[in-house]
Amino acid sequence: MLVTDREPARDGEQRKTGTARGRRRRLAFQAVFEGVRTVGWTTAHGLRYVATRRKHPDPELRRAVLLRNYLLRMGPLYMKAGQVLATQSGLLSKRATDEFRSFLSDLPPMSARDLRRTLAENLPAPVDEVFAELDWSPLAVGSVAQVHRAVLRDGRTVAVKVVKRGVPERLAASSWLLEKLLVTMSALVPALRRYDMPAHFRELRPLLVGQSDMVAEAARQARVAANFEAHPFLTVPLPISELCSPDVLVMEFLEGVRGQDVDQVDAPRSLLAQRLQDVFYCMVYFHGLFHVDPHPGNILFGTEGRLMLLDFGLVGTLSEDDKWNLSAFYYACVRQEWELAVERFTRAFVARPERLGQTATEYREELAAILRAHFEEQTARWSTMSFFEDATRLLRRHGARVSTGFSLLALGLLTGEGFISQVDPDVNIWDNARRFTDRFSPYLSDELRERFDRELGDQLPRSTRTRQAAAGYLVAPTHLDRFVLPSAFPLIIEEAHGSTIRDIDGNSYVDLSCGYGPHILGYAHPVAVDAIQRAATRGAVNALGNPDELALAECIADAFGAGSKVVLSNSGTEAVLMAFRMARAFTGKDRVAKFEGHYHGFSDQGMVSSWFRYRGSASQPEPVGGSAGAHAPVVSDTLVLQYGERASLRRLAAHAAELACVIIEPMPTALSDYDQAFLAELREVCTRHGVLLVFDEVVTGFRVHYGGAQHLAGVHPDLTCLGKIIGGGLPCGAVVGHAEVVDIARTTTDPFLDVEGRAFVGGTMSGNSITAAAGTAVLRHLRDNPEIYAELRRKTGWLTDALRAHVAEVGIPCNVTGGHSIFSITFDYARPRLVRDRLAGSNVKANFGLAYFMRKQGVYMPELHTMLLSGAHTDSDLGIVSDAFGKSIRDMTSSGFFTV
Ligand code: PLP
Repeated sequence: MLVTDREPARDGEQRKTGTARGRRRRLAFQAVFEGVRTVGWTTAHGLRYVATRRKHPDPELRRAVLLRNYLLRMGPLYMKAGQVLATQSGLLSKRATDEFRSFLSDLPPMSARDLRRTLAENLPAPVDEVFAELDWSPLAVGSVAQVHRAVLRDGRTVAVKVVKRGVPERLAASSWLLEKLLVTMSALVPALRRYDMPAHFRELRPLLVGQSDMVAEAARQARVAANFEAHPFLTVPLPISELCSPDVLVMEFLEGVRGQDVDQVDAPRSLLAQRLQDVFYCMVYFHGLFHVDPHPGNILFGTEGRLMLLDFGLVGTLSEDDKWNLSAFYYACVRQEWELAVERFTRAFVARPERLGQTATEYREELAAILRAHFEEQTARWSTMSFFEDATRLLRRHGARVSTGFSLLALGLLTGEGFISQVDPDVNIWDNARRFTDRFSPYLSDELRERFDRELGDQLPRSTRTRQAAAGYLVAPTHLDRFVLPSAFPLIIEEAHGSTIRDIDGNSYVDLSCGYGPHILGYAHPVAVDAIQRAATRGAVNALGNPDELALAECIADAFGAGSKVVLSNSGTEAVLMAFRMARAFTGKDRVAKFEGHYHGFSDQGMVSSWFRYRGSASQPEPVGGSAGAHAPVVSDTLVLQYGERASLRRLAAHAAELACVIIEPMPTALSDYDQAFLAELREVCTRHGVLLVFDEVVTGFRVHYGGAQHLAGVHPDLTCLGKIIGGGLPCGAVVGHAEVVDIARTTTDPFLDVEGRAFVGGTMSGNSITAAAGTAVLRHLRDNPEIYAELRRKTGWLTDALRAHVAEVGIPCNVTGGHSIFSITFDYARPRLVRDRLAGSNVKANFGLAYFMRKQGVYMPELHTMLLSGAHTDSDLGIVSDAFGKSIRDMTSSGFFTV
């Protein structure tokens, strides 16, 4: 469900002091006054409309002037509606729209006396102590507030937004009155009931009334400003919070040409329109926090096409689920899968879809026809407004309505797109939108799809045929057909040596996957090959003790400090499952806490909120299953926390009595960085509250340091899960930890105690001799050659610097982060702080594009996974990667992957 931004709404009722009874009386008085005013002005304007009907030469213009004057008289609630009309070229004729536009610059200010009184009541000190200068004539006057230019005593120029005197009370009264009117009308006219107008209005009311609370507005503005902090061409003025109060908002002053004077801007119209669209879609699809009212009066143009966004009176929010549903809907539309699109539209946007009841079939058919008409036939002249209009009309006919949150989104899109097409009537909204609306598909456009198909198809004929044939008998969700977003061009590798892989078509690539982690020494390293060959010759031994198993366990235990003990498994997933069971058995508690965006293997609990889908706010994430078929009670019982958020530590402490353990990737692979202070605090909270701390070092173990990230951070968990590297290229996993905890999996020799109180964590192939021999050989090699780690650090540093230099030269929104042989590339202007920023808030399409462009240049880069280096990567390999990256991002820029 789409939700509105529920900042604490302060209306006129709350603002005044006095008893509740007194406030109610004042509101009632005001409402009566508003009622009389409504009836009076409606009658007067109705009569004027009739009287001038025949006389006026231009009926459209006459209607627009009358409507404008009427709304102006009716007060702020109604004016808002007028402002939306004013930007919508489609709603009135061109001339009438122009007349309406004057509305934006034509609102009456409050009197100088009222202004003085409001400032005196709201500023923390007398006006002339706060400001060195204040321009008493307003720069702009809106329906709710007016804005003045001022200079603070410290010399900073600021904009001072002051709520017009009496507006909060009028907003409260007219919204109260309107609600009562809607309730009465719905009661009296049965035909109106199905529109649910009172419910709709009640949902919107706090938002409309809350517009006059400058403290709440300053908070919203600060959140949007933070989202655009490092943006290349958009600025949001920062509020100066110590000077903000319920009726006054003081903020940075930004100089620019007002939206309605776009003719004076010295930049191509097409550039401005694309940028406007980019900014607005970025707010909706990436940030989920959007300006509901981006009309020209709220936009300034700076030099070189810079944009500034003002007035955060109305801000809508989209939850992660909303963003997901919106993307799912567009995905079906782009693929012209109309039935699916109808289902997703209904799920995402319709309030109480059960009302569609008997006419559901007709509704589905008619909506499919509307979607087809808009998405298939009109994409070159795409208009969200006319699509929404048709869809809303259809719903109304079937007795249903769109959700309030959707109305807000629609309002924002209508206003935004209305202005964008005023700026550039030739703008192709649909094409520009694809990076956002169709963000979970690999292709930016049909032309690019054809180009990749042609070029990569020519490069990979055998691989493509083999993959198609294999689809008949193999389900390989991790490589040939990745579970989500499968690669259109999977590689089928014949040979892999050092840093190079060669596919069955004879193409060689510098590999940046390292098999997702195990091959830290490179493929077919003699140390591993030799150990495997010798162990195989001796005969594979499993489910029986063997010296290799003992050697591997000893090697791992040594790396994690005196008194450590090890349990071996066959994969990282198994290691995590073992750790959970051991923690439950050890503590006698049941629940598990994990961190959002951290993947712990494919078990039901290991995948909770780990990729693609997130739920809840960033600071209070909620669990969401990572796969169909995951056991729902396990998913919902998992406590999900946020790395780096102190609030999460408090939540952890609050739930400590139920929690057996908390698992974390100390250096999340997706971000390749760690927060030492947070980890230290986490350790402390776990110790204090008796919750076991489990580090998942399946990727980072023996990769970022001999041992793992815990050796870099100096923070040590109770249990560590390992995998990948410790198998020397063969399947392996392990749990290592304090003997006291790990012994929970060891027999007591009393069968009754064992069965009742010990954790069973066995496996037929766990500790098999061939895997253990390979793992031991690789770990010993790493232990005896510590310079490998220094070299990996140097190489990662060199490569990430080189990639960043290309990014700076080309000037695209792209962050290259990494260290210790792990690095990642995110196409966003801000460095991702959370994993959810990286997946749900960035240009995923560009990651796909990059992987395909790089592949053409002989570099294999996983599309979505983090990149890994091995000891086998030479400086010349890194040079090849850097050159390929430079060429790829240039090609991507000219192919339209990035903003202008
Ligand atoms: N933990 C982390 C951090 C991982 O990245 C992975 C796999 O990529 C696992 C656990 C699961 O390991 P496996 O795929 O060996 O089961």
